Amino acid sequence: PSRIEVRDVSLRYFTHAGETQALERISLDVAAGEFVSLIGQSGCGKSTLLSIIAGILPASSGTVHVDGKPVNGPSPRIGYMLQQDYLYEWRTILDNAVLGAEIQGLNLPRARERAAHLLHKCGMGDFLHHYPRQLSGGMRQRVALARTLVTNPDVVLLDEPFSALDSQTRLAIADEVVEVLRSEGKSVVLVTHDIGEAIAMTDRVVVLSRRPGRIKSQHLMRFAGHES
Ligand code: ADP
Ligand code: ADP
Repeated sequence: PSRIEVRDVSLRYFTHAGETQALERISLDVAAGEFVSLIGQSGCGKSTLLSIIAGILPASSGTVHVDGKPVNGPSPRIGYMLQQDYLYEWRTILDNAVLGAEIQGLNLPRARERAAHLLHKCGMGDFLHHYPRQLSGGMRQRVALARTLVTNPDVVLLDEPFSALDSQTRLAIADEVVEVLRSEGKSVVLVTHDIGEAIAMTDRVVVLSRRPGRIKSQHLMRFAGHES
């Protein structure tokens, strides 16, 4: 059984300038523990599809299920991480990481423990009581990852999480992120325009075609050491 099931999802944006068919009948399955990347030209609908899976944008038609349950809004089951880290400058690293659980109304003492554990795992264990401005861009994204994982979601959605980083930092952090996510048994969808990142980080590369958003091709990639 697939952990993520996207069925015939279409999305139309309506603005004063007219309407845009961003997605047209997209279907996609992601298995438990599978890492999939979503690539395609700018404007082909990658971010739109990811926000629909995340439950923050309702599809015009079609359905999304996670673990067999329909996605009708944001949920602790689904972690969502963006290019911008949206850390609060007046909160410590630990308090930023806890925020993911706080906004979902989860038990705070337990969430703090889990946030500290995740920050250690993400290589930020020495910085729990620092503030974001004291950190590099790569470190800030590690905190954002910990915050994304603090609700213990089964599904993790990453929208260009490393695009704002320089290429060297990007390579280093990508490996670590994959390791953390695999060790936690997550199913992952990564949006990226970097084909190298897609190949290095994921088991399968899904190409969205330009206008109207449709899946063009899917390549299954298996690497030594990856079981799926
Ligand atoms: P990316 O290509 O990285 O997904 P974009 O630059 O396309 O980012 O979009 C950035 C933001 O602007 C997103 O929040 C998106 O929803 C919004 N956006 C993109 N295109 C339009 C548009 N035609 N009208 C209104 N908002 C848009
Ligand atoms: P990608 O992530 O692949 O760059 P997007 O999902 O951001 O693509 O955008 C898909 C299409 O929908 C583009 O034509 C974009 O301009 C349009 N779009 C995105 N967000 C909005 C929005 N909030 N309002 C209107 N049009 C949008």
